[in-house]
Amino acid sequence: MRSRKHLRHKKDDASRRIHYCSICARYFPGLSIWNAHVKGKKHVKKASRRGMSKVEPEYPLDVPGQRFCVLCEQHAPELQWNQHINQRRHKLKEKLAIFKSAVDEAQDDKGGAIVSGEFDFKVVEPSDALRGVSVTGKIEAGEPLARFTLVGFQLGSSGSHATYSP
Ligand SMILES: [Zn+2]
Ligand SMILES: [Zn+2]
Repeated sequence: MRSRKHLRHKKDDASRRIHYCSICARYFPGLSIWNAHVKGKKHVKKASRRGMSKVEPEYPLDVPGQRFCVLCEQHAPELQWNQHINQRRHKLKEKLAIFKSAVDEAQDDKGGAIVSGEFDFKVVEPSDALRGVSVTGKIEAGEPLARFTLVGFQLGSSGSHATYSP
């Protein structure tokens, strides 16, 4: 069954990717456009000439005129890159990445971090860290694709845990 949340997310991400047809040497932005392409006469002709009934798309990272965003795992046109990084979805991923790396760092250092609502990070003094500090962060977004809340992050001697709630 594909009912699990993370599977569905993966599928969404893949469908937004740039699909490359190795037979036609062409790029297609998104699964639906790819699907239309593989039904097209030219493609079917080329494929059958090679004795291929079904062509699997490739997902190249290097696409002419496109830039790959590692955070969003998707391409954005080079000319629209600034728009992309200002998108809510991207900013949310960025915040989450910063939050995660700050927490990782804090754990590595056996220190701690304090995360306020605006995501200002403060590294506490070692003496404070020994007692353990709690970190609370919250990321919210109104968009259905990226709606999650990060709550109740705790660092301390008792270990750490993170809760993601949809
Ligand atoms: Zn093709
Ligand atoms: Zn992005």
